[in-house]
Amino acid sequence: MLHKNRLYTPGPTQLLPSAQFAMAAATMHHRTADFRDLYVRTLADLKSFIGTQNDVILMACSGSGAMEASVSNLTSPGDKVLVLTAGKFGERWSSLAKAYGVKTEVVSAPYGETWTLDAVKEKLDGVSVVYMQGTETSTGVRHDVEGVAKLLKGTDTLLVVDAITGLGTTHFDVDGWGVDVIIGGSQKAVMIPPGLAFLSVSERAWKKMDATKNPRFYFDLRKERKSAAKGESAYTPATSLIAGLGAALDFIRGMGNGNLSDGRHALVENAETAAAMTRAAAEALGLTMFAKHSPAAAVSAINAPAGVDSGAIVKGFRNQFGAVVANGQGDEMKGKIFRVAHLGYYDYLDTIAIVGALEHVLASISKPAHVEFGPGLRAAQFVYAQRATFAAATV
Ligand SMILES: *Cc1c(COP(=O)(O)O)cnc(C)c1O
Repeated sequence: MLHKNRLYTPGPTQLLPSAQFAMAAATMHHRTADFRDLYVRTLADLKSFIGTQNDVILMACSGSGAMEASVSNLTSPGDKVLVLTAGKFGERWSSLAKAYGVKTEVVSAPYGETWTLDAVKEKLDGVSVVYMQGTETSTGVRHDVEGVAKLLKGTDTLLVVDAITGLGTTHFDVDGWGVDVIIGGSQKAVMIPPGLAFLSVSERAWKKMDATKNPRFYFDLRKERKSAAKGESAYTPATSLIAGLGAALDFIRGMGNGNLSDGRHALVENAETAAAMTRAAAEALGLTMFAKHSPAAAVSAINAPAGVDSGAIVKGFRNQFGAVVANGQGDEMKGKIFRVAHLGYYDYLDTIAIVGALEHVLASISKPAHVEFGPGLRAAQFVYAQRATFAAATV
């Protein structure tokens, strides 16, 4: 049959058509009233999307650039920080801290798991910043941001959360919990191509930057904040991506019937439903989840059946259906798991399609073929019906 190219990877994700049109139409110069209008509106909308009153900074880089800025701007050589890690993106925090000469304490958990709050509590002494993920994309695990924030309440320790796949898939109360920095990226739930990162920064984190000594130039957040107050960026901004982001935030506002916070809520619930359908389908097909206890709505990491290389499943999706899913990341997980994202522009039909395709892919790699068609779809349908009834009942 005909193949449509469909991205089910946890970044980059499927593009929003209205954002693509906005990007194609963006021919403005960045030192003009037109651009300033767009920039000011987009920064204000990002606050609603993140759910914060704090200033938001937009950067022309992928998500890791904003992670780096959160280390270089908030630390001095010799400072002690705490990294909470259970996957490849958690390990990136450790590498960044090392690159900036920062002493790094680590609380870790095996891939597929999350750490305990007790273990975090034991390591907080003398720590200036805690770095963590909201959702660990490499393992499909959701970490307890609220729990960590509670441990830090009333202390001087800052909390920095990489929510690059968390935003738009996970409910966060950024200001209520006291998250000092929370980071997002364009190629995830906001449905546009890679190239932009954004982060919100609390007043006390801004204050801290006046005293920190690590080097920074392009990623100097205070310089960006000054420019943003005038409706501009410090350097040439990625104008077309910002036009696309503006259109994507309009779309999310539409999901909330004109209210962007409600739209964010609806987008998170959309991801939750797709993830719950996918998990139920995988289990009905005899598969197990890599994240057993604390699965994220951003991405489902599914174990390949015993004796099967997950690369064969990834290849099956691509060759038979034009669908791109992700293999495991890094030597430890490559070949063992495959990951299906629910970030952003994915709906009921996408979810059902991936489950139907999974049944065929499993049938084609099991020898002799023994997969019965339907159990995965049936389980996904039940979850959808339950959640749809629930949603209708709560309107
Ligand atoms: C995608 C992602 C990043 C950023 O990766 P980039 O390639 O720099 O965009 C960081 N953390 C998490 C959890 C991610 O999913």
